[in-house]
Amino acid sequence: MYSFRQEELLQCIHCGLCLQACPTYLEEGNEASSPRGRIYLMRAVAEGRIEWRGKALTHIDQCLGCRACEPACPSGVAYGHLIEIARAQSEHSPARPRRQRVAKRLLLNLMVRPAAFAFTLRIGHLLSPLLGGRALPVPLARLLGVHSVVAQLPPIPRTPGRLSSVYPPLGERRGRVAVLTGCVASVLFPQVNRATVAVLQHNGFEVIVPPRQGCCGALHVHNGFPEEGRRLALHLMSRFEGEPVDAIVVNAAGCGSTMKEYGRLFECTPHAERACAFSSKVKDVMEFLAEVGVRAPQRPLVGRDGKELVVTYHDACHLAHAQGIRQQPREVIRGIPRVRLVELPEAEVCCGSAGIYNLLQPEMAARLLRRKVDRIVATGAEAVLTGNPGCLAWLAQGLRTLPRPVEVLHPVELLSRAYDAPHTGR
Ligand code: SF4
Ligand code: SF4
Repeated sequence: MYSFRQEELLQCIHCGLCLQACPTYLEEGNEASSPRGRIYLMRAVAEGRIEWRGKALTHIDQCLGCRACEPACPSGVAYGHLIEIARAQSEHSPARPRRQRVAKRLLLNLMVRPAAFAFTLRIGHLLSPLLGGRALPVPLARLLGVHSVVAQLPPIPRTPGRLSSVYPPLGERRGRVAVLTGCVASVLFPQVNRATVAVLQHNGFEVIVPPRQGCCGALHVHNGFPEEGRRLALHLMSRFEGEPVDAIVVNAAGCGSTMKEYGRLFECTPHAERACAFSSKVKDVMEFLAEVGVRAPQRPLVGRDGKELVVTYHDACHLAHAQGIRQQPREVIRGIPRVRLVELPEAEVCCGSAGIYNLLQPEMAARLLRRKVDRIVATGAEAVLTGNPGCLAWLAQGLRTLPRPVEVLHPVELLSRAYDAPHTGR
């Protein structure tokens, strides 16, 4: 069983500087819904004063795991690690009904199997009139202890998902990279994977796409099932090892942050050294492009009125807070001819997607989505860009019904358009 280390909990000096960064505190204005309050609960559990039940369980469940509290903390509290421990412990709490744990596990196990997930998505669309377009059937929601479902079934993409195993570089060769295709992302956003490959090719990289990668383990690790997360991570590493590459390029913030933290996931196990070696190669696609120097795209993009294309950028939590990647995507976007980036107020506040949070905590997720959509609309942008599949799907749902449509894209898709890349399948 995962357990807290006292010294990590005691690092919190109760200064409260993290409170205003925390989306649930911003919405609730309640100490128990803040990072400081949650750390206090963790400490009380670690010292045996309380157990994970009742309100303590509720406040931990309501945490988005967005890690916005981490960069705000002057004391260096590793909140992301602490919440993973709290989740793993609370999943095994006697106060958690067994059927909830089993249903959650089933849901996660389905999501990390691309073929099964794609099949279920198609069945869901066939039954959509009966499901009312909902992402979760009501009986499954009840099993999970959820009383309303706000997430809608995501559309079935038209872009083919399967990629070749090797793509040659275009122009002068600069190196060789491997690309993570992801589990949920490969089903819902194959166009983002195609754009990633195309952009890397245009930047002179040979791209390899190891087959049967599976999942990086992030969904399980973030939701209280670290053992399963480790099993998935071991499989993923085995698919990439043995290929000499300059970097393992990832276009999904949640996956990238977990893969960069494999050292911690495998701490005190025989795989620790191997995990650290693997993590050292992992790069977010925007981080990688900014580091190697992105080749200037030539094709100007135009807005609806034939003038410049106005876009805004939402910081995916696991990119900004967990990986510290904020400026690189903005630099890359600003380098695209005739694209104007308008800053989004509260760009770093979570949109409410947070993995499967929008399925499990629908009310808070919907409040945060409304907050985000209002701010996106106020920018007047024609497109919002973000670097995580969960945010892409959730923002698309929030923006779908607006009278003036706002496109939701990964930055790499916009860049691919500016290269006029035929390889994207567009
Ligand atoms: S992870 Fe996010 S929601 Fe949870 S305490 Fe930190 S800032 Fe708040
Ligand atoms: S900012 Fe850090 S030290 Fe201060 S209350 Fe929050 S977690 Fe604790």
